[in-house]
Amino acid sequence: MSNDAIHAGSCFCGAVQFTVAGSPAASGYCHCASCRHWSAGPVNAFSLWHPSALTVTSGAEHIGSYNKTPGSTRQWCTQCGGHLFTDHPAMGLVDVYAAVIPTLSFAPAVHVHYQETVLPLRDGLPKMRDMPAEVGGSGVTLPE
Ligand SMILES: [Zn+2]
Ligand SMILES: [Zn+2]
Repeated sequence: MSNDAIHAGSCFCGAVQFTVAGSPAASGYCHCASCRHWSAGPVNAFSLWHPSALTVTSGAEHIGSYNKTPGSTRQWCTQCGGHLFTDHPAMGLVDVYAAVIPTLSFAPAVHVHYQETVLPLRDGLPKMRDMPAEVGGSGVTLPE
């Protein structure tokens, strides 16, 4: 079985162009305060990829980055401020925001950091209190 899909994405202004290849390792929604504060939105739709799946095809010099915590390198376009990626080196995965990959068929499977939610959602998906145990979280799920 192979998945050769290539999806093109960009920042808000188009100065930064990139592709992701194949399928994400995981997709879902993060409700943590850091994602909400940085995105200025109530919830973050994430798609996590192995770093080798992500290729910046133009405008790499316009990518800014900021670490509030060592586990998350948040990256954006310095021309328009549009958000692009959050690298999670300890997880070995990079979050490419689902909203910046228009052709990706977003298939969320989980909500993480749901104990911090400001936007409760009743979609039937598992609601992790923090993170799955496989990536260092408690693995505890909360009721909707
Ligand atoms: Zn831009
Ligand atoms: Zn988050």
